[in-house]
Amino acid sequence: MVVRGVLFDVDDTLSDYSTSERVGLLGHLEAEGLLGLFSSHREAVAIWRQIMDEEYDRYLAGELTFTEQQRIRTRRFLSHIGRLPEGGLSDDEATVWFAGYGVHRDAAWQAFSDAEPVLQKLAPDYRLGVVTNSSFDHQRRKLDTLGLLEYFGDALTCSEEHGAAKPSPSIFLAGCAALGLPPEEVAYVGDKYALDGVGARDAGLRAYWLDRAGRGTGSPIEAGVNVILSLHELPPALMA
Ligand SMILES: [Mg+2]
Repeated sequence: MVVRGVLFDVDDTLSDYSTSERVGLLGHLEAEGLLGLFSSHREAVAIWRQIMDEEYDRYLAGELTFTEQQRIRTRRFLSHIGRLPEGGLSDDEATVWFAGYGVHRDAAWQAFSDAEPVLQKLAPDYRLGVVTNSSFDHQRRKLDTLGLLEYFGDALTCSEEHGAAKPSPSIFLAGCAALGLPPEEVAYVGDKYALDGVGARDAGLRAYWLDRAGRGTGSPIEAGVNVILSLHELPPALMA
């Protein structure tokens, strides 16, 4: 089947989320006078990321709202380093603390160097869109800041507004509908093996798992999940 559309994950696929998260956290901790509490930058980031992974999963599972997961991450992090005030943090205080982190993180947003050249190459021949586990306003602002929004028009399908998150087939199918194409004519590219690669395959799309680190999964790759190490491998792969 000929592929006529390509849907992209955003974070750690087009945008270097992990770097902006690290730079943003360290900048915020420095500004708050907390950076000296850690034995290394790596330790601070590891604690933040561990909590983020757990609470973001609860958000994606529908247990928490987007704002609640931010507040809980803030409280858990400060508690972990012994800096949660005696009476705890009010919702407003937690929101303000997290927003401070967000300002530093957003100032550090950057696209991977292969993102724009590949989008430019694909744009004349394919309908392009995004399917992401996040909110529309947040991802639209990010793509705009990165200079990538123009490639996608209004075809941004986000879990917050859609009501289900990857790997649910429904969000992949909504992305295909936004392109006006059936799933068998659409490719999907993302950095998370189970969520993006297996999820897109199960929804009937042509799935590409972007393994930027080239480390594999530790297990055999399942049939129907294609592996690429860089976005540059995508245009020739789509022609195959
Ligand atoms: Mg991602």
